[in-house]
Amino acid sequence: MIKFLLIATLMMPQQPTILRRLFPPKIARDTTVNLIVIHYDSGNSSNIVIRYLRQTHKSYHYYIERSGRIIQLVDPKQVAGHAGVSRWGTLSSLNFSSIGICLQNIPPQFYTDAQYVSLVFLAGQLQHRWPDITANKIVGHEDVAYPRGRKHDPGKKFDWARFRAALDTTQFKPMKKVVKPRKSLAKRPKKG
Ligand SMILES: [Zn+2]
Repeated sequence: MIKFLLIATLMMPQQPTILRRLFPPKIARDTTVNLIVIHYDSGNSSNIVIRYLRQTHKSYHYYIERSGRIIQLVDPKQVAGHAGVSRWGTLSSLNFSSIGICLQNIPPQFYTDAQYVSLVFLAGQLQHRWPDITANKIVGHEDVAYPRGRKHDPGKKFDWARFRAALDTTQFKPMKKVVKPRKSLAKRPKKG
């Protein structure tokens, strides 16, 4: 019985902490075709990365800190500016068809256990929502950036076998909708 409970616990992970810091809405994405593109950044903190993204008009849908905390920046039904010039099969300009997930990492760091747990959780949720996201449609930025060699993320330190095995064996509960916006981004009273 204890063994069964232990396995069940391993296969049904708790929902990681998710924070919303949404960028201003952009245009709708083509959700008839869906891929996930995995990235890393080289930032020391999420605040620095988010500031940089805002300044450069780039964005990811989700950012996963080394603690495993997920920060949602863009609604996955909208376009985020993460893939740049890119190709996958006959598709190009993948910003319009893909969901970008960025893992906090300063190469040559390894990715943390908590990041794998959160990434598996998130990818599983997205697969549940858009079942056309099969394993071959979860790719690295380095695999789709064009021309080839333009990007190197998530890089050699990202353990694809570990990620795919965990994704195959994890069962998912639907995501809870209890995500509180940061106070500073909540409606502010008008001045004056
Ligand atoms: Zn990238």
